[in-house]
Amino acid sequence: MKTFLRLTTTLLVLFIFFSSCSKKGPQTNTTTTDSSAVTYEQSLLIHPEELSIKWIDRMHALGINTITMHPRGGRNAYKTLEEMLQMLETEEFRAMLDHADSLGLNIEYEFHAASYLMPRDLYESHPEYFRMNADGQREPLLNFCVSNEEALDIVAKRAVELAKKLYKSTHRYYFWMDDVKESTCQCEKCAQLSESDMTLLVMNRIIKELRKEIPDAQLAYLAYHGAMPIPTQVTPEEGIFVEYAPIDRDLKCRLRENNPDEENIKALLDFFGKKNAKVLEYWFDNSMMSNWTKPPKQFVPDNDLIRDDIDYYRQLGFSYISSFACFLGADYEELYGEPDVSAFSMK
Ligand SMILES: [Zn+2]
Repeated sequence: MKTFLRLTTTLLVLFIFFSSCSKKGPQTNTTTTDSSAVTYEQSLLIHPEELSIKWIDRMHALGINTITMHPRGGRNAYKTLEEMLQMLETEEFRAMLDHADSLGLNIEYEFHAASYLMPRDLYESHPEYFRMNADGQREPLLNFCVSNEEALDIVAKRAVELAKKLYKSTHRYYFWMDDVKESTCQCEKCAQLSESDMTLLVMNRIIKELRKEIPDAQLAYLAYHGAMPIPTQVTPEEGIFVEYAPIDRDLKCRLRENNPDEENIKALLDFFGKKNAKVLEYWFDNSMMSNWTKPPKQFVPDNDLIRDDIDYYRQLGFSYISSFACFLGADYEELYGEPDVSAFSMK
């Protein structure tokens, strides 16, 4: 009887596992993408304070193209961005980035920038630049009013200055809106726009300004939270590419087997084009797995899932694939040893 019960329980667990993950039926074979015609790129995003020569050498050994600095997100992202900009002025930090550069790694920077691009201290003199909340009040917290032309001018000019501060950056830029759900302006004009339209409107304004000084600049439209669906009232300017960041995905299920957002991905790729389309995944995001609180938890990657997901994204048309890899710095190593990012190898 006990054996029967155990067997029944096992079958039940297996049934639940497959029914939650595999609405299309489980597929175990991976079709290899023909890479002859496409140049693939990959990057890992780490917090600047977790950067080390060891991290850089690890990425170089795995054949990864790009190392990306990502100051911590959340409500105070503009402050962590300022901290990173200060680090970028130091010889010590630049020496590490020089080392990455000497090994042939690209250097990029990705962060939530809205509150940095619209300085909060302008609220006193120009409350109309800032967002209207649900109570109809302008407030200096998060994002800004995207229907205010003067506000957009300030943001775009600050973005050009910011781009120049990003030491040895490629000309691909990532100046995301703020990192809090439902924090867009609700004034009469902005309320006519979806969050996706608002995001693209801002990015369009920034790329136009960037290209005056950096003609080959490119700028990410971050498909994330409320900006996940395609915009419907605004179309992308030259130089805008889509960056797809599925923060709500289930990291226990292979996307090939069940991805409830697949139709949206296809719509995004149709709308923005596949050229330069980028994925920003969470496979190695130990900050998320540690609930963004230190000390970090021990990180055990599902390497087969990661390799399969990478292949899946490439088949959909993404050539640039990246993942957060935060909370895997020196303090992590002291607790648990070397983090395993081998599934991200490009060799
Ligand atoms: Zn507004």
